[in-house]
Amino acid sequence: RICRADFMHALENDIKPAFGISKEEFDSYISNGIIIWGQPVTDVLEEGQLRIRQTVKSEMTPLVSILIEGPPNSGKTALAAHIALLSKFPYLKFCTAQTMLGFSELAKCQQLKKIFEDAHKSSLSCVVVDELESLLEYAPVGPRYSNNVLQTLKLLFKRPPPKGRKLLIIATATHRDILEQLGLLASFSKVIHLSNMTSGRHIFHVLNEIEHCFNDNEMRVLEKKLHDKKVWIGIKALLDLIEVARQADESSRVPRFLGQLEEVAGMN
Ligand code: ATP
Ligand code: MG
Repeated sequence: RICRADFMHALENDIKPAFGISKEEFDSYISNGIIIWGQPVTDVLEEGQLRIRQTVKSEMTPLVSILIEGPPNSGKTALAAHIALLSKFPYLKFCTAQTMLGFSELAKCQQLKKIFEDAHKSSLSCVVVDELESLLEYAPVGPRYSNNVLQTLKLLFKRPPPKGRKLLIIATATHRDILEQLGLLASFSKVIHLSNMTSGRHIFHVLNEIEHCFNDNEMRVLEKKLHDKKVWIGIKALLDLIEVARQADESSRVPRFLGQLEEVAGMN
């Protein structure tokens, strides 16, 4: 016999909304969590929270859009997904060139239009538009890009939702100057720069947050070696180095890791 509990169970576990949030998808972009390694992360998160509040509360600005801009591997995608989840808005959608692989320009534009039209149907929506350069098919050689996608994005970023509805757009990009040239920067209420990690302390902070990597002795050595060093490395690249170090022999783990930091992060 089927009873109410079965329906509730199905609602919880089996039924995916036809449009709107798919939490697993968002989670997949934050596979290694969010480590608050320093002020740059705090700044982005605070701005994100401020903009969520603005979207919910303000009557004057039903459309709020932010751009998280930073070097490759700095954690843009994960932070954008994280802020979107923080909003707890009923309609969340993630647009990425990855899921539009092989789409024609026209199909891409239609897909983007559909996502925003669906967003306009919900009282509170948040749309993440990841890697603007990839969506625009930007290539520095030439340079080339899809003007159709550019015009579509410009219009979609400007179109306020119908009366009584609110929309928060969170975009990410790597090349601020290119977006500026394409006239896309002006579309955003706020452009937030996300920096790479710049000091050994940032790195040590991450090591502290990650379990089962280095033992207490190794951590003491690392703290001494790292504390006054300048570095330049993105969180994604650092997590990769840590993962490699984890697989190495205990005897060579620390020197190997430090050697990699010198090579990849310019530490000296
Ligand atoms: P790309 O330039 O290739 O697009 P990206 O800047 O978008 O890279 P992400 O794909 O977001 O980088 O990768 C960041 C990874 O680091 C994710 O696995 C995420 O879970 C993890 N991470 C840990 N701490 C943070 C943090 N403070 N900010 C962002 N990501 C973090
Ligand atoms: Mg990314």
